[in-house]
Formats: sequence, structure tokens, C-alpha cells
Amino acid sequence: MTITGEMLIGGSAVKGSEAVLRCMNPATNEALEPPFHGGNEQHVERACALAQDAFDSYRNTSPQQRAAFLDAVAEEIEALGDELIVRAMQETALPRPRLEGERARTCKQLRMFADVVRRGHWLNATLDSASDARPDLRMRMVALGPVAVFGASNFPLAFSVAGGDTASALAVGCPVVVKAHSAHLGTSELSGRAVQRAVARCGLHEGVFSMLVGAGNQIGTALVSHPAIKAVGFTGSRAGGLALVNVANSRPEPIPVYAEMSSINPVFLLPGALAARAPQLAVEYVNSLTMGVGQLCTNPGLVLALPGADTDAWKAAVAEEIKGRAAATMLTSQIHAAYERGVADLQAAGGVHQLGCGVEGSLPHQAMPVVFETTGAAFLADHAIQNEVFGPASVLVLCQDEAELMRVAASLEGQLTATLHAERATDAALAQRLLSLLELKAGRVLVNGFPTGVEVCNAMVHGGPFPSTSDSRSTSVGATAINRFLRPVCYQNLPEEWLPESLRDANPHGLWRLKDGALTQG
Ligand code: NAP
Repeated sequence: MTITGEMLIGGSAVKGSEAVLRCMNPATNEALEPPFHGGNEQHVERACALAQDAFDSYRNTSPQQRAAFLDAVAEEIEALGDELIVRAMQETALPRPRLEGERARTCKQLRMFADVVRRGHWLNATLDSASDARPDLRMRMVALGPVAVFGASNFPLAFSVAGGDTASALAVGCPVVVKAHSAHLGTSELSGRAVQRAVARCGLHEGVFSMLVGAGNQIGTALVSHPAIKAVGFTGSRAGGLALVNVANSRPEPIPVYAEMSSINPVFLLPGALAARAPQLAVEYVNSLTMGVGQLCTNPGLVLALPGADTDAWKAAVAEEIKGRAAATMLTSQIHAAYERGVADLQAAGGVHQLGCGVEGSLPHQAMPVVFETTGAAFLADHAIQNEVFGPASVLVLCQDEAELMRVAASLEGQLTATLHAERATDAALAQRLLSLLELKAGRVLVNGFPTGVEVCNAMVHGGPFPSTSDSRSTSVGATAINRFLRPVCYQNLPEEWLPESLRDANPHGLWRLKDGALTQG
């Protein structure tokens, strides 16, 4: 397939009319062909009107039809073959194995949501029989309406055009209008055409999927402002996410924005764990920090420990390990510039010094890994030290005692993850105090692992209190990501044949339902 530089609006490919957008190869600084043109408000209007038109027929497709559609999207993505991987490598400088893994994850996500749709427990079908005291009441979840999805810079496949936000919205019956990320427009067009083909193959309304291109401040704002749009999925900067939350809240009809923004993913190294395996923990930490050039939302940007000989051994091992780690190319020149600014801010912060760094880069947009060290007191005195530095930079906070460690933990902003390295025999008391606090700070709490690497499964939570996300009640990864795009409806005293099938006495799809307080498939 050839990339044409067009937007995808319903079943059509449409040339934009606004400023030229060119994707750059960040490794070479070369402009990639073809040029794209940004869309305007008429394109937003057309895509949203089609999504609105498609909503009723799409939400009323059977779970089997929607599952088959999601499976078809996965097949179409796979059928793109190497062209998708090669283009994504050019646009992101991410290596082939990483992108092949990301493609597999994207298809796994689509197929997982297909299974979730088929199982039907997301409907939350609940029946309360009539009695003398109350009428017949039955409840289920329904789709919110068309959803706007913003592709992420750091996951050109798994969190972009056909990524988790799109898959979870499509799963429950919401049409999707994607705003492609400007850094990987060719990858986006290829993925978008795969979704478009799946829509046609499955005989669905063309408005089920559209993909727009353009500067976020115009196209993105117009999209979130459009009355047809009923929810937003976003992964990116805190500034971008908050701007969209403000747009959504200023509408005559405010809508939810599920923005995943910034997180520094604290890792606590407790004394027993350091005594047992300081050198191994140092290597695993540097591996996690430098994975994907640190451009992962779950990157371990903060480490906390208490003073002692084992902590000194860990520090020495980190300094030694990171020395050999080469600088690597970041996703975009803007992300690289933001990284350099963040590192410079840490370098200039009071009470912060460098613990170790990698090999400096000689090519464009390369980030050198670096670890800083500070004290608990300095960290508590300067809130800016906990600003996310997106890339392979991290800060060790050495707390003078357990009381200070707990104060530092309590001062942390909301996080996607929080990690404890601890020994059950020796660290139990401190670990349990920390766990009780950290479950209020983070969406995922881990013991004796590293936060990078997010499983796609039923129990995963990739979310957390502000600023890690704009709505801590949700997750953007895992089966329950679909709840973001649903709302409950209660049906009171409806005749059997007027009820949705999922709530009828006969239970034609054999769903598990809560009937008069008991879970039953009957
Ligand atoms: P971004 O600047 O927030 O952009 C993400 C998307 O939102 C783009 O499509 C962008 O459009 C759009 N957008 C940005 N500001 C907007 C606004 N005011 N109104 C409407 N739309 C807007 O994020 P990025 O380009 O991915 O990276 C920039 C920084 O984000 C990184 O340096 C990093 O700090 C952070 N980041 C964090 C994570 C994380 O998971 N924690 C992930 C990725 C990035 P245009 O670019 O086309 O204008």
C-alpha cells in the first residue's frame, strides 16, 4: 500500500487543505514523503456528523458482530506486513523488535476486547424482581456515543489509531474519530486504512471510524468541542491533557476526558531487599530506566532508599552500569528538547547532584541516560523535583530515616505505578505501611519487579490519581478500559418484549447476571 498523505473520513480518503505537515525521521533529520495537509473545521464536522449517523446502528450491532469487527481490524493490521513496521521505524526511531512487539500487543488488545464483548459481563446486567414494595427494575450499561481518540507519540501502534482507546470504544459500540499524532502520520494512515477496510469488510456504517490530521490546537480543540463527541481518550503531556479537559468542561454539554499524562513511578528500595541483592537491583533498574529510551509512561523516574552500606553498594553499581549505556534517539525533536530542559532543571535544582550517566550522543535528538541523587529534605523543599522528565532520567531520594521516607511518600503526586523492593522476612512492617499509603497514590502497586512492561489482561490497571490521569476511576489498558465509554441505564416495569435482550427473562445469550442479589446464568 502507498501512503497518500490523506485523512480518512468515513469510507473516503480526503486531502487536507491547511498547513503542510511533514513527518521527520528523528534519527536522520530527513523529511519523509508524502506531505500531509492538516484538516479544518469542515473536516471535523464531516467526521463527527458521520460518527453521529453511525452511532445508532453501530451500538445496536450484536456483540458477535462487534467482536468479529475487532478481530477483522487485527487481521487487517497484520496484513499490512512489513510496510507498517518500516514506516514506524522511520517515523519514531524505535527499533524493529520493539515495533514488532508493539504490533503483536495491538492485535492482542483488539482480540482481547473481542473476547470481552462476546462474554458480555461488561453489560453489568442486573435484575431486581418486582415485589409488593417495588416495581420490576433492570439495569445494563450502554455506549456513551462517538469518542475522540488522540494518538500517543510514544506508542505509534498500541496507543494510537487502532490502539487501546480505539479498541475499547469500538468494543462497546462507540464510533471513533481519531486525531493522529503529528509525529507518525504515515504509520497512522496505514493503521487507519486497516480499520477502514475492516469497517467495509464487516458491512458497518462508514461513520464508525474516521481519522483526522492537523495541529492539536485547531483540529484537536474543534474535535473535543463538537457536540457529537461524548468522551475523549488521550495520552500525552500534562499541558495537552489539561487543555483538552478545559475544552471539554467549557462545552455547553461537558464530557469526560480520559487523559493519561505524567507519572514518575516511584520505586522504593527497602533495606532487606538491598542487603539481599543490591547489584542485581542496580542492573534491573538501569535496564528499566533505559528501555525505549525512557519514553514509557511507567518509566522509573524516582527511587527512594534509606542510607547504609547496601544502599552505597547499589549506588556504586548503578554508576558503573549506566556508564556503558549509550545515548539513543528520541521520538521527536520536541520531546528531545523537553528532555534536555528537564535534565538541565534537575542539574540546577538545589541539593541535587549527578550520581551517574551514560555515553553522550553524537547524532541528532539523542538522549543520554542520567541518574541524579538528592536528600529527602531537598525533595520535600522543592516540588519541581517531582516533575516528569520524559526520557531516561531518574532521581534517587536518600531519606534519613523511615519517618522521612514516609513523609516523602506522602508528598508524592498521583502515579500510574508504585514499586516496592522488599524481603518478606525483614521488610514487612515498613512495606505494609508504605503499601497502605501507595494504594492511594497509584493505579498499580508492584512488589519486587519494575513498572515498565504493562500486561494486557483482565486485571490490569493503567491509570491513577492526578496528574497520572485526569480521572483516577479509570484504566486505559486491560479489559475494564471499556467502562470509560459506558453509562448505566435502569429500565422500570418494561414489558418483556420491549427489554434489551440482555435483560430478558429468557437470558438468550446466557449472560452471567446479578438477579435479586445473586450471580446467575439462569
Ligand atoms: P502532547 O504535546 O501532549 O501531544 C499529544 C497530542 O495532543 C497531539 O496530537 C497534540 O497535537 C495534541 N495536543 C497537544 N496540546 C493540545 C492542545 N492544547 N489542544 C488540543 N490538542 C493538543 O504530547 P507528545 O507530543 O506526545 O509529547 C510531548 C510531551 O508529552 C513529552 O515530552 C512528555 O513530556 C509528554 N508525554 C508523556 C507521556 C506519558 O505517558 N506520561 C506520553 C507521551 C508524552 P499536535 O502535536 O498535532 O499539535
